[in-house]
Amino acid sequence: MMHIPHSRPTLGDPEANRARQTILSGMVAQGPEVEKFETAFARKFQTKHGAAVSSGTAALHLVLLSLGVGSGDEVIIPSYVCAALLHAVHHAGATPVPADIEADSYNLDPTDVRRRITARTKALVVPHLFGRPANLDSLGELGIPIIEDCAQAAGGTLNGRPLGTFGKAAVFSFYATKVMTTGEGGMVISDSPSLIDHIKDLRDYDNRPSYAVRYNYKMTDLEAALGLSQLERLDDFIRCRRTIAEAYDRALASTGLSLPRPHPGHIYFRYVIDLPGAGKIREKMQLEGIACEKPVFRPLHRYLGLSGYPRSDTAWERALSIPIYPALTNPELDYIIEKLKSIYGGSGNDEALS
Ligand SMILES: *Cc1c(COP(=O)(O)O)cnc(C)c1O
Repeated sequence: MMHIPHSRPTLGDPEANRARQTILSGMVAQGPEVEKFETAFARKFQTKHGAAVSSGTAALHLVLLSLGVGSGDEVIIPSYVCAALLHAVHHAGATPVPADIEADSYNLDPTDVRRRITARTKALVVPHLFGRPANLDSLGELGIPIIEDCAQAAGGTLNGRPLGTFGKAAVFSFYATKVMTTGEGGMVISDSPSLIDHIKDLRDYDNRPSYAVRYNYKMTDLEAALGLSQLERLDDFIRCRRTIAEAYDRALASTGLSLPRPHPGHIYFRYVIDLPGAGKIREKMQLEGIACEKPVFRPLHRYLGLSGYPRSDTAWERALSIPIYPALTNPELDYIIEKLKSIYGGSGNDEALS
């Protein structure tokens, strides 16, 4: 039996060699590699400036602070997303206001967002969940400053433009299993030099002429060395992800499963199937050695004790994420397809779900 993890990073000699050089240089904390990574990353995403930090959560926290978000302000975020967004808004001292998602894209529903805008709304955080571009055309018309959360969508596009170029700023995460990794790490990109300067000021506390609360959110050169190698491979990574997604689309079309709705800018960070009894299928796949996951652990409104998020609740009950990453081999891919079809195949659906 095969054992296939739900996700795993793609790391090899390019990363090892660059990390080795950094170690031997004796400069391992924030230094020249971080600066190179910021410049290369911003250029890749057709944006003027980048500021590297220690995580995606830190990136979002500092963007909120730099936009002046604080106590008494409200920040709209989707309910159906990881808890990092909740933490970042709370770190900034503001009030998170979850909004519901669209049923078929898992992304923010502009109509529901509009309902939740008040005089205190200071910002809107827009993730591109699972690598699928959010509806920025409609969200942009709401008149609220947008922070794009590209933690799952590095390299995705909308209307031919890179994700990360539509709002005041965009944040990225380089956690181990994200689209590209530095182990842990994050990045802010923006065309605003003052916003980026502010973030660079806040991420470090040393040698400042005056005292204000600051943070130690720095990225290390060792991490940036990984990031520079991974960035060079990003286009290949995305090609691999799309190839695997196409293979799933083709192989599963006849099963009656509800597959991801296509979008030209989708990078398939996750391949998420919508089905009743997702938990049961997950258990059966686990018995075959294949790790599938609920792609969002718990919708945020549930943490906050709120109700009125029917589509987030439905997604939570029905979404099943199956392995998709560049390091997935062809035999693994065939094995996943074979097992998924036999567990949820043709007329066997009812049995699979009972
Ligand atoms: C992973 C993730 C984050 C947080 O990034 P960390 O680097 O883990 O702090 C934020 N938003 C989304 C959508 C994520 O997937």
